[in-house]
Amino acid sequence: MTKLRLAIVGAGPAGIYAADILLKTERAFDVSIDLFEQLPAPYGLVRYGVAPDHPRIKGIITALREVLDSGDIRLFGNVRFGEDITLDDLKKHYNAVIFSTGAIRDTALEIPGIDAEGSYGAADFVSWFDGHPDVPREWPLDAASVAVIGNGNVALDITRMLAKHADDLLPTEIPENVYEGLKASPVTDVHVFGRRGPAQVKFTPLELRELGELRDVDMVVYDEDFDYDEASKAAIASNKQVMVIDRVLQSWRKRPGANNAGGEASRRLHLHFWAKPVELKTDADGRVSSFVYERTRPNAEGGVEGTGELREVPIQALYRAVGYFGSPLPGVPFDERHGVIPNREGQVLHPDSNEPVPGVYATGWIKRGPVGLIGHTKSDAMETVRHLVNDAGQWWQPEDPSEESVVALLAERGVRWTDLDGWHRLDEHEIALGAPHERARIKVVPRDEMVRVSRGE
Ligand SMILES: Cc1cc2nc3c(=O)[nH]c(=O)nc-3n(C[C@H](O)[C@H](O)[C@H](O)COP(=O)(O)OP(=O)(O)OC[C@H]3O[C@@H](n4cnc5c(N)ncnc54)[C@H](O)[C@@H]3O)c2cc1C
Repeated sequence: MTKLRLAIVGAGPAGIYAADILLKTERAFDVSIDLFEQLPAPYGLVRYGVAPDHPRIKGIITALREVLDSGDIRLFGNVRFGEDITLDDLKKHYNAVIFSTGAIRDTALEIPGIDAEGSYGAADFVSWFDGHPDVPREWPLDAASVAVIGNGNVALDITRMLAKHADDLLPTEIPENVYEGLKASPVTDVHVFGRRGPAQVKFTPLELRELGELRDVDMVVYDEDFDYDEASKAAIASNKQVMVIDRVLQSWRKRPGANNAGGEASRRLHLHFWAKPVELKTDADGRVSSFVYERTRPNAEGGVEGTGELREVPIQALYRAVGYFGSPLPGVPFDERHGVIPNREGQVLHPDSNEPVPGVYATGWIKRGPVGLIGHTKSDAMETVRHLVNDAGQWWQPEDPSEESVVALLAERGVRWTDLDGWHRLDEHEIALGAPHERARIKVVPRDEMVRVSRGE
């Protein structure tokens, strides 16, 4: 083998890091990499997940762009695996494939009423405010009182975006329609619910602290949630992150708005702990009207149990931020329970035999599940690439591995793919749209427009 023709499906951080690591790995063969991405823009959830008011994290794009610009990778944007190109096609033209398709769906929350009008998944809302081309452009922000379910950083992003005044988001890259939507929002109260206590949250300290810095928003925490059990006290004493989180929350207990005693701000952000979702009630028109939860308490196994005490909060919208979930890919093994491609250290496994499927690999969130930061996808990619390189004898033997063959195939199928030059054109176009308004960029949202700008049409 003198050359590895590799397809990578998914141009998020996992796919781009995998390409970078492979190119830098010591090896006895040449490499030629084609990166397929269903969207006309690369970077996955860094562009379409990370919140627009987190420019430092969005800045990771600079490092990812350097990899793409290194000249060793071809990008095929607006090409969807399973529709525009299939596993059989890849076997004809490549020696192997790495799937890095991430996770974009919401995990289900099984409570009565969850499908009511006014009940939303966090992933859909994130896609909307980050300008994802495949979600509707209008988002019904008509609720004064909103519930957010979840105690992780995605719940914090949702909460912040709902509570923050739209004008404070103007310096970011939010699309125009998102600014207009948020500006018209009548929201006054955002209630965040977690099943466990303040010492068990999955928030990170920096992101939690940020909530308390929002202009014209009062933080509301409740004394009843801070009657710590021994396990919580031990966690606070032994874990620096938990200690800082507790310190942040304790500081909010001293603010005028604590216990909902009435602060000065026009918006309030309530954190409710020890609250297990029970039911979403609706009005006569089938619209969300209140959220019922059960108070919980710690149990002997380090978890929680219900106390039997039910409470009800009137709301007009609910967002569940209880996790993301991967999607199956045609022809590729899939673990329905965990929402991942079954694999051993990135080698995709046959679901019946549990043996590696030759030539097929996975990395990132579709390999490991939707937890962890962007940086984790780098170590993921290292592991996967190590197996890919070691498995050289097991790769596919394609009938036409030439670089032109794939271009011909896409052209023959009438796929309007975009390439790296096209992405540069779109990138510059967005930056130019932002310039007159002193904004870093304004995102183009409609897919057609993205493709037209990219292709110079
Ligand atoms: C709301 C939110 C906020 C976050 N904020 C942060 C943060 O502040 N800091 C941080 O470090 N991490 C953050 N993360 C986590 C971070 O986004 C992930 O760790 C990382 O993006 C996972 O990378 P990935 O490449 O596996 O998946 P993704 O980033 O999802 O990339 C997958 C890519 O595959 C493409 N794809 C999917 N299916 C197909 C197909 N059939 N054909 C072709 N292409 C396909 C997708 O379009 C996408 O571009 C956040 C995540 C979310 C959801």
